[in-house]
Amino acid sequence: MTHAPALFIGHGSPMNTLEDNGFTRSWRRMGERIPRPRGVLVVSAHWFIGATAVTAMPRPRTIHDFYGFPPELNAFEYPAPGSPDIAGEVVEAVKPTWVGLDRDQWGLDHGTWSVLAHLYPEADVPVLQLSINALKPMEYHLELGASLAALQDAGIMVLGSGNVVHNLGRVVWNQPDAAFEWAERFDDAVLAQLRDEPGDLLRVMEHPDYGLAVPTPDHFIPLLYLAGMAAARGEPLNPLVRGYAMGSLSMTCYGLGADEVTCTEEEGAATVPPDVPADQTNI
Ligand code: ZN
Repeated sequence: MTHAPALFIGHGSPMNTLEDNGFTRSWRRMGERIPRPRGVLVVSAHWFIGATAVTAMPRPRTIHDFYGFPPELNAFEYPAPGSPDIAGEVVEAVKPTWVGLDRDQWGLDHGTWSVLAHLYPEADVPVLQLSINALKPMEYHLELGASLAALQDAGIMVLGSGNVVHNLGRVVWNQPDAAFEWAERFDDAVLAQLRDEPGDLLRVMEHPDYGLAVPTPDHFIPLLYLAGMAAARGEPLNPLVRGYAMGSLSMTCYGLGADEVTCTEEEGAATVPPDVPADQTNI
């Protein structure tokens, strides 16, 4: 059985779905080089709810969970199949933690399809999402991540989709490659922690730049799942891509068991069109 890698992808603007830039090309290279998984379980920043659930429908719908973006993005469809069978494997893997089967509520949100549009452009690998339970403490997500390590051995890729640094209120809309010093400092601190002791990732919450880098936890928590898996395997979490977007987003990606991919520095991330309402918080 193929041992599947686990990835954390800094997804940035939803416009990356439609663009060809340094980051999206790096995601395509990953999809070409790493062993093809039996299925992908995505922990997306954009399914942040009051429960732990896994999608279990055979045909998950494409959800356009934002507003003000161009019609091409609202028309984008990612028709990957789901897999009720793999959903059952997830339920077993995380026991005794309870995870609910979502048969008709969610689907695939843009945290998932903006990345998979490049990783698996043919949409021919089954995709499931695992919700982020917003009611649970940070430790819960590390521990649940550790239990997902068993899925790797069963050929299931775990994909965290968020951003290590994600502060929409500080975004400089017209500077795609800008990086604030505090964003770089925090991104560097996370990288060092993941290389040395991924299981102790929550130590970065004491970092002086944590409040600016992680003003809300939704985009950071997907990384906790990867850190938990790395700790469970006794392996470091290695960077695959480094770079920044619009000052206050880190586009850094990490891999566990993705040795086919060498780390590159990228630029040219998609920005956000000027007519997108600036108060939008769900991107
Ligand atoms: Zn996002």
